[in-house]
Amino acid sequence: MTIADNIQRVQETIAAACDRAGRDPSAVTLLAVSKTHPAEMVLQAVDAGLQHFGENRVEEAQDKIPAVNARSSLPVTWHMVGHIQSRKARDIPGLFQVVHSVDRLKLATKLSQLMADADEPLDVLLEVNVSGEASKSGLMAAGWSTDADVRSAVWQEVEQIAGLPGLRVRGLMTMAPIVTDMEATRPVFANLAALRAALVDSLGFALPDLSMGMTDDYPVAVEEGATIVRVGRAIFGPRE
Ligand SMILES: *Cc1c(COP(=O)(O)O)cnc(C)c1O
Repeated sequence: MTIADNIQRVQETIAAACDRAGRDPSAVTLLAVSKTHPAEMVLQAVDAGLQHFGENRVEEAQDKIPAVNARSSLPVTWHMVGHIQSRKARDIPGLFQVVHSVDRLKLATKLSQLMADADEPLDVLLEVNVSGEASKSGLMAAGWSTDADVRSAVWQEVEQIAGLPGLRVRGLMTMAPIVTDMEATRPVFANLAALRAALVDSLGFALPDLSMGMTDDYPVAVEEGATIVRVGRAIFGPRE
């Protein structure tokens, strides 16, 4: 199987999930997560029609992004999907157009300051931990629908981040727990979609994007409303 074959198969799977859910496939963006893979493989995916690529480590991106951009015939949009240490924040705006992993006010504030002189705001998604797993980063939102304290903490943090200049909050991102049966992820994705709806309702601004679903669970994520799926292995094969 070539990268182009893999992309076609993933796109067919997304279309089938949209069909089951009564959604328009054009409302779902396939974000190819190219971490650990060389620029050559990204360029093959560009040739196969993809525009959006994700990386999770700043060091790796500093080599790969300029290499791809210099050789790509079409513009590429780069998404940061991995955890960002505060001291690495300064490298983000020059490399990435979208950040999915804004998981704390401190990081958002730092990115906002770095964007002070930019013409265009940086598109960001707020990473949310809705499953409550201690190992996961993200704004801690487990129990938001029933626990008033959690709810008010999440609402406050989202409002504060949304008020920062230089950032455009596009929506929410989550990582589902690793499970053997992808159905087990459904409640997590449904929960993120419900949180988005509740935030939009009470805060009164749009949060158009839901970044959720990876190789093992993206069909379920699409059924539950994902607008961006982050797929690595199903496109580029296994990682070392
Ligand atoms: C690696 C990674 C992905 C893609 O994972 P696959 O299982 O290879 O599809 C998606 N999101 C994040 C945050 C990642 O780090």
